[in-house]
Amino acid sequence: MRELKEKHVRILLVACAVVILALSITVACMTLKNRTLRTADAEVSKALASAQQANESLKAEEAEKESSLADQMKKQSESYSREKESLQKNIADLNKQLAIKRAAATASPSAVKPSPTPLPPGKVPNLSSKTIYLTFDDGPSPRTPEILKILKDNGVKATFFVINGGKNNHYMKDIVEQGHTIALHTYTHNYSSVYASDDAYFSDLQKISDLVYQQTGVRSTILRFPGGSSNTVSRKYCKGIMSRVTKEVEKRGYTYMDWNLSSGDASSNSVSANTIINNCRNVPKSNTVVVLMHDAAAKHSTVQALPQVIAYYRAAGCTFAAMDSSTPAVHQRVQN
Ligand SMILES: [Zn+2]
Repeated sequence: MRELKEKHVRILLVACAVVILALSITVACMTLKNRTLRTADAEVSKALASAQQANESLKAEEAEKESSLADQMKKQSESYSREKESLQKNIADLNKQLAIKRAAATASPSAVKPSPTPLPPGKVPNLSSKTIYLTFDDGPSPRTPEILKILKDNGVKATFFVINGGKNNHYMKDIVEQGHTIALHTYTHNYSSVYASDDAYFSDLQKISDLVYQQTGVRSTILRFPGGSSNTVSRKYCKGIMSRVTKEVEKRGYTYMDWNLSSGDASSNSVSANTIINNCRNVPKSNTVVVLMHDAAAKHSTVQALPQVIAYYRAAGCTFAAMDSSTPAVHQRVQN
């Protein structure tokens, strides 16, 4: 009985020991787990803190980048502005140079197309008894300074029958100052108004006379009718007007001048320089040779031909002269 009791106690003790052991193991396990969790937690916190730090440093970096970008952009924009300013200055300088060159080109013969290939001289006749009166109608024009330069280079004096040339009118003064004769052609060169009536003709003549006087101080008494005294176009506007005004201008103290050699430069704007040179070689019998040429914007070939025309007359022994009151009048046959 006692033995049985002892056995029960032993079993009980063993059971107790097993329970205590199990409990201890559980507690140990829980502690370990808890510790692991805490470590993990700390690590997470640490990682979080470092992430936060990284985030802040990124933000700082970004801010720095932004500010440096803004700086860079500002600097670049300033440098662009400087560059733009310098380019604008360059452009202005270039424009100025261009304007100067253009002005020089208009005023100098460099704007003149090179002279045509010289025509074969052929047999140059002896024309030493002849006086050549080169006459230029319808100027002043952008061609006037080119013509004046050629005349000056060749020591030749000529006669300009002028119209109202608008912005070119200041060349009238150059014509006079360089020793050429300024003479009257017409103010408007508009046949329908100039030849509308005798009064209309004289009113137009007075206007061009006044303009020449204003520009040059010269009261010219030499004139050339638009289309010449033999024109028939005036018949369309006023019958018999040429017969009357040719007499009336002389009564009023004027001398009118036609021509007896046409250069043919008025036939079209595309007439070649060589054609003009050839035409000018058809010298009439008269010792007074009045050559009709034109001073107009489109008449480039007249300017081109002029040096060779002068060279031909010179080679033939002709004398050149500008018209004055003693020049023998060359008149065509009045047909209206
Ligand atoms: Zn004319």
